[in-house]
Amino acid sequence: MNENVVIIGAGPAGLCLSLALAARGIDVDLVERQEAEALAAPAYDGREIALTHRSMRMLRELGVWERLPADGIAPIRRARVMDDANPGFEVDGQAFGQDRVGVLVSNHHIRSAAWQAVAEQSRIRVHCGVAVESVSTDVTQARIRFADRRLLDAALLVAADSRFSQTRRSMGIPVHMHDFGKTMVLARMRHAVANDGTAWEWFGRGHTRAVLPLGEHLASTVLTLPGREAQALMELSDEDFANAVAAHYEGRLGKMELASTRHAYPLVATWAHRFVAPRFALAGDAAVGMHPVTAHGFNLGIASVEHLAHAAGDGLNRHRDPGHAQMLARYQRQHRAGSALMFAGTQAVAGLFTDERAFAQPLRKLAIGAVRAVPMLRRALVAGLLDESPRPVSLAHQLGRVFEVLRPRLSGS
Ligand SMILES: Cc1cc2nc3c(=O)[nH]c(=O)nc-3n(C[C@H](O)[C@H](O)[C@H](O)COP(=O)(O)OP(=O)(O)OC[C@H]3O[C@@H](n4cnc5c(N)ncnc54)[C@H](O)[C@@H]3O)c2cc1C
Repeated sequence: MNENVVIIGAGPAGLCLSLALAARGIDVDLVERQEAEALAAPAYDGREIALTHRSMRMLRELGVWERLPADGIAPIRRARVMDDANPGFEVDGQAFGQDRVGVLVSNHHIRSAAWQAVAEQSRIRVHCGVAVESVSTDVTQARIRFADRRLLDAALLVAADSRFSQTRRSMGIPVHMHDFGKTMVLARMRHAVANDGTAWEWFGRGHTRAVLPLGEHLASTVLTLPGREAQALMELSDEDFANAVAAHYEGRLGKMELASTRHAYPLVATWAHRFVAPRFALAGDAAVGMHPVTAHGFNLGIASVEHLAHAAGDGLNRHRDPGHAQMLARYQRQHRAGSALMFAGTQAVAGLFTDERAFAQPLRKLAIGAVRAVPMLRRALVAGLLDESPRPVSLAHQLGRVFEVLRPRLSGS
């Protein structure tokens, strides 16, 4: 009987999962279509990942955190949400004695640090630059066939090959897919007016703007636009691009200058109908592909890593089988329940704040006004970002956590 796990996709989720499984004594084959050189030194891809305290804890436990460059970790002191001319609300960690609500780390730094940790793990065998021809599973084993005819058998096959997962499709798992019809344009910009360590989400008519602070006068600017406008922006010269971005921010950050390559991502959210099948599981974006507006895609990916590694580890310890059906069912239950609220909430926020119809504006005003007026709501928002414990595994647990946060204020009032 096989006791190993094959993971397809060495993105941040696949790399972290292989580390978490190896730490539980499980041998892993990690399969990736890119070459090893590209994984060891990934190019900057424009994504600045806002990590919650829970994800930071996991990256520390996996030995990834210590490999991040110290100057590549930028604190987010506070976050501000605005709608058009409405000043909106701000949250910070002061009520919890914290000087930051989270940190920003570039996706390519996370990938490279995780790759370094993987390279030092004798239980992980990496197969780079390979093409998977077919996958199949039955109740006894999973089988992966490469284009060069090599075969790999395993107790469990995991797809971590992106929200457009080819492996998920081969396994016949349907997915709910929502194309927002918008594109995100990202770039690092130097700007004249200091950002004060504040991250912004600024909703407006026809476009959304975000600022992710990377230094006093350096930030990632994130514009969400209809596809054709995004394309036109991407085609401008560097100088015209900087001026156009500064204009989108209505000059609030002053004059801007491009400080990186630019990147465009069409916005598509995905939610797999099932996260497991016999000897098969989905992890990372292959399970839940989030709209980036709430900055939770990788944070949920790390939660999938934590739940799946526990399930496989318990399967090995109790049944000598990391792909044991009951453990996979537990993973599915926990990860679906733990991410459903965040996925639905993010879809609702993305929908409401990009809806140009007349009824949407008063609703937006109401939503932002409520958070602005009720300190407990802001407190609950921050508590979720600061919490280090494992992601709640059911809706009842999630509501329980919210109640724990709200309770001191309720009893004090
Ligand atoms: C603009 C933007 C901003 C974001 N900001 C945040 C944020 O602030 N906070 C946050 O938590 N998340 C954020 N995210 C989400 C985060 O980037 C993703 O959740 C995360 O990268 C997903 O990791 P993954 O490993 O699941 O998939 P991916 O990063 O897509 O990696 C998949 C890997 O699988 C490989 N692969 C694909 N197909 C195959 C195949 N057939 N065979 C072999 N290998 C294959 C690919 O080469 C790749 O290496 C953002 C996303 C975007 C687009």
